[in-house]
Amino acid sequence: MKSLETLPINIVTIPVTPLRQNCSVLWRKAGHTGTLVDPGGDVDLIMRAVSNNNITIEKIVLTHGHFDHVAGADELSKMLEVSIEGPHVDDKFLLDSVAETARNYGIDGARDVAPDKWLGEGQTCSIAECDFEVLHCPGHSPGSVVYLNRTLRFAIVGDVIFKGAVGRSDFPYGDHKALISNIKNKLLIADNDDIAFICGHGSSSSFGHERSTNPFIV
Ligand SMILES: [Zn+2]
Ligand SMILES: [Zn+2]
Repeated sequence: MKSLETLPINIVTIPVTPLRQNCSVLWRKAGHTGTLVDPGGDVDLIMRAVSNNNITIEKIVLTHGHFDHVAGADELSKMLEVSIEGPHVDDKFLLDSVAETARNYGIDGARDVAPDKWLGEGQTCSIAECDFEVLHCPGHSPGSVVYLNRTLRFAIVGDVIFKGAVGRSDFPYGDHKALISNIKNKLLIADNDDIAFICGHGSSSSFGHERSTNPFIV
């Protein structure tokens, strides 16, 4: 597996909300222009990480519409004057009810999110000044996307797959069959074994490691 340390990109992960969601700040080692991925809340913590690393955020990118991944996006996009890209439009219903859902989890101050740009299969999204391919991988949520850079052998997978687990699909709109099929057919293919990924909760891993050990796949 390609180690994340060898990437030409710095990654700082900030666990946010009581759900310990991995908000990530990514920027090129050679520069100071960064991308915020899944700013789910705790905006102060995120802003501290950004200023501690002397990063200018150029964009916010979302993997899917769950409140723990997006609840800080609207506030940060206005504060930093940057746009929000992704996920797939099929998660619009989730992004339209972020404040309400967060309140049900006892979290105040969350705001609904209106992305500036929806993303779909095969489109390109720039993250940390590198081009990532967009893979639409519904199942955990209808609009979940994975960002993949084949040259860097690096992916950002949100809650589609984790180290040793897969995203939950027991929501009314979840689809376990579709999730497993997308994981097997789009991510865990032999050619991708050396691709490292960061995910929405817990540790990073690689597609090859999960292909041979993930109990939900093997
Ligand atoms: Zn999720
Ligand atoms: Zn999550």
